Amino acid sequence: MLRSLRPKTDLKTLITLLVVASIVITLANALYATRRVQQTVLINNALEANRVYATKLASTTEIFFQQAQSQLAWSANGMGKAFSNTALLQQEVQRLRTQTNSFNSVAVVDARSVVLAASSESSMLEGKQLHTDATRQALTARRPLISKPSLSATGNLIVLISWPVTAPDGRYLGYVGGTIYLKKHSVLNALLEEQFYRDGTRLFVTDEDNRMLYHQHSEMIGRIIEPFISPQLRAQQSSGYQQVVRANQDVMLAGYAIVPVANWTIVALKPRQTTLAPLDTLLLQVLKHSVPLALLTLVLALLLARLIALPLWQLARKAGEMDVQGVSGEIEGIRSWYFEALQIKRAILTGISLLQDKIGRLRVEVQTDPMTQLLNRRGLNAVLEYFLATQQSFAVLAMDIDHFKRVNDSFGHDVGDLVLQSVARQMEACSRKSDVICRNGGEEFLMILPGATQETALSIAERLREQIAQQALETVGHITISIGVAFWHPQETTLEHTFKLADAALYQAKEAGRNRVIMLPAGS
Ligand code: GH3
Ligand code: MG
Ligand code: MG
Repeated sequence: MLRSLRPKTDLKTLITLLVVASIVITLANALYATRRVQQTVLINNALEANRVYATKLASTTEIFFQQAQSQLAWSANGMGKAFSNTALLQQEVQRLRTQTNSFNSVAVVDARSVVLAASSESSMLEGKQLHTDATRQALTARRPLISKPSLSATGNLIVLISWPVTAPDGRYLGYVGGTIYLKKHSVLNALLEEQFYRDGTRLFVTDEDNRMLYHQHSEMIGRIIEPFISPQLRAQQSSGYQQVVRANQDVMLAGYAIVPVANWTIVALKPRQTTLAPLDTLLLQVLKHSVPLALLTLVLALLLARLIALPLWQLARKAGEMDVQGVSGEIEGIRSWYFEALQIKRAILTGISLLQDKIGRLRVEVQTDPMTQLLNRRGLNAVLEYFLATQQSFAVLAMDIDHFKRVNDSFGHDVGDLVLQSVARQMEACSRKSDVICRNGGEEFLMILPGATQETALSIAERLREQIAQQALETVGHITISIGVAFWHPQETTLEHTFKLADAALYQAKEAGRNRVIMLPAGS
């Protein structure tokens, strides 16, 4: 039963487990927190970097448009006075095309959309009427314009930057315009590609209708896409960032900026997954730096666990031996260096002292005759063992009340008991401190006189006999006793023989008429 209650583990193991668990949890927690923080930092950094990147490109593009427009404005101003001079227009168109390198082609178109002059790529259009969207937009607006992407008369997807030409009297004559090819090499491509990031960031440009103007894959150019940046955000801020979540696609960290003059949006984006790729390396680094300290902590904790568990372990072991002689001293020696261990140690020591007290009291009870409070035969045996062990010689007085049966018969058993008690007290009064008195059973007593000579033994026996004979007891009156005396000397006789001799002497005293002392020296 007790066996099954026995715990499977001990304090040291428990403390060790606790420490290991704490370290693992702390480490895991640190890794988790680092991961969360670093993730946020990486994402925010990428978003902000993309916003800054888009903003920079937007401002470069804006400057390009402003320069291109001011070149066109300058030319338009000159053409207003000589719009019919085709040679001059031709010369100006050629100059704009080659000198600035801003445009893929340049043309002057009159108010009826007839091409008056065109740079060499489009020279076949000269004298012809144009029906392209871009031309229509420019002629309808009659103001400086950056057109929506449209197919040119030569079949290129273009954006037209145009400036109105007016006569000195203010009459609208037409426009001078430069085109930028979206799908072929152009100044726009050069501008955007020049800045191209290497770390997985991609770039695209859309107009206000979400039509793709620039994309690394040219087949995307010209297509209308689902708005990448939310229209509300775009309306609120000219630059910003956003995490873009699309079904079945990586989450994109997008930064954007608007090119005000064209109302274009430049978007720089990086997949979230690519951005977070360094995270694992980072965590490994954290782990690499934390593990040595964690191991050191573990070793220290194990030592401490041993130190804490040791006194309790020792106390627990000794607690099972509380009835063993001398265990108190061993428990005293256990170093209980902290409060709980000290309290337990004190409790065990108190327990042991109570237990031994109790055992002592039980022993006394077992060895004492309850009626006379003298030793009983068992008690006497314990004393004899002691004499035997210490080889202490002694005299023995075997004593028996004369005609005690009569006392019982005449006055009753209770009065007989009182007589026994009275005799016991008188024996005590006649004895020395070192003497041992024992009720041997019934109305027979034994008295051991350690180291007593024949004279001493005889005189004590005589004195006792006389005193009892002289003292009149209540109710009963006078009683007498007979005493047999014998001796024990370690090397000479056995204990058994000595007691037999004392009995024999007592028998002789009875035979000789009672109320007397007979001594039988050893060897008789
Ligand atoms: P004698 O020794 O002189 O030969 O005669 P006696 O009458 O004393 O004889 P014996 O020793 O044989 O008798 C002992 C009596 O003591 C017998 C018993 O009734 C009585 N007795 C023994 N133990 C007790 C006791 O505890 N209380 C009382 N009241 N009487 C006891
Ligand atoms: Mg008797
Ligand atoms: Mg008797």
